[in-house]
Amino acid sequence: MRRSLLLRLAWRQSLLRFLIFYVFATALGLWLHQLAWVLLAATALVALRAYLRLYRVSRFLDWRQQLHTVHGQGMWAALETLIHRRQTENRTRSRRLVGLLRAYRQAATAMPDGALIINRRDNHLIWFNKSARRLLGLNYPQSIGQVFTDVVAGANVRDWLRSGQTDETLMDIASPVDQHQRLSLRLIAYSPEQWLLVVRDVTQLLRLEQVRRDFVANVSHELRTPLTVVHGYLDMMEPDEHSEWHPMIGEMRRQSQRMTQLVEDLLTLSRLEAQDHLPEEIIGMASLLVTLRREAEAISQGRHQISVEDTAQCDLLGSAKELHSAFSNLVSNAVRYTPTDGRVSIRFERTSDGGARLAVQDSGYGIPAQHLPRITERFYRVSTSRSRESGGTGLGLSIVKHVLSLHQGRLEIESEVGRGSTFACVFGPERTRPRGY
Ligand code: ADP
Repeated sequence: MRRSLLLRLAWRQSLLRFLIFYVFATALGLWLHQLAWVLLAATALVALRAYLRLYRVSRFLDWRQQLHTVHGQGMWAALETLIHRRQTENRTRSRRLVGLLRAYRQAATAMPDGALIINRRDNHLIWFNKSARRLLGLNYPQSIGQVFTDVVAGANVRDWLRSGQTDETLMDIASPVDQHQRLSLRLIAYSPEQWLLVVRDVTQLLRLEQVRRDFVANVSHELRTPLTVVHGYLDMMEPDEHSEWHPMIGEMRRQSQRMTQLVEDLLTLSRLEAQDHLPEEIIGMASLLVTLRREAEAISQGRHQISVEDTAQCDLLGSAKELHSAFSNLVSNAVRYTPTDGRVSIRFERTSDGGARLAVQDSGYGIPAQHLPRITERFYRVSTSRSRESGGTGLGLSIVKHVLSLHQGRLEIESEVGRGSTFACVFGPERTRPRGY
């Protein structure tokens, strides 16, 4: 073969190969190009779908959007099922809480007593119910944020609120709407920041209380005159010692004396209840203590050992007549409820806060603990027979309590059955005065 033919053949072959390769490469290139687009489109679809699911989940995480029941499988479906379950639980819980809150609000609104929530720090009104609006003349929403002491004025209300006394009801406050309407105020410390203040209309209650007081005072007053007459006539009767009338007249005298004492005690109580303060003077305690000792000795008739101790070295500011009557009652009780040969000691001493304390201690019968909370109630007696026997009226301790409360003092009682009792009248520093002035 000639070389030129060989060359031509080789050239043709190469050209053919090149053409085949070119066609093949072009076809492959085209195919790969399309594949790349397809892959790109698929990736974009997957990313879009993931984004849509994520968007859906994020929307459902917002509590206002409710997720409907989820179908399907996979990670997203599991996540959505979990969110759906939590959402359902939370919705049920908050629905129950809202229901409870609504019920509490309705109950508080329907209460016949006024209820107010006030800020403990500055006494601003935070919330009040319908009855509070009526009783205190409040308006919603204008009165929200108002200071309570601007609504119900008065130094006693301010002091009471400042002291935060939750165990003491403030009685007989004039309503800002109507001066004849009387209110009672009670504080409830239900949270560290807020008070619940309960306002009650006690006009009717106070009126009834007044009617009761007037009735007792009038009856006692009406009984006083006939009793004086009976007493006078009985005193004039002097039957022969051997006459059958002698023991009868003696008993009639004792009983009429008891009735007179009862009437006097009832009148004293009525008088004390009708007052909110007493005339004051400086009471010389040294001479009062001498008088108390003399009275104790007179009742005891030498049957008891009586001692007086005076370490206070101060006098008291108050009503001499009423305080004398209160101390006398305690001394008389100590002697009457202590058997013969017992001890009665009267001590006047200072208290740690600069006040003073008059204590009457005896070694008598003592009082069982269960009677102590009620011992100062009218006619409350531990033993009726013992009280009658000893000439008691059952009103002595009530009188003591009233007298002390009119002096901002308090009665402290300690007692042990068979060992004796101590009744102490405690006064604040404002009631003491240096002796001799
Ligand atoms: P009374 O006139 O009956 O003594 P009070 O009001 O003075 O009435 O006292 C009430 C009751 O308290 C008495 O009936 C008595 O039972 C009891 N009591 C008072 N003081 C004493 C005391 N020192 N020791 C024991 N019991 C006392």
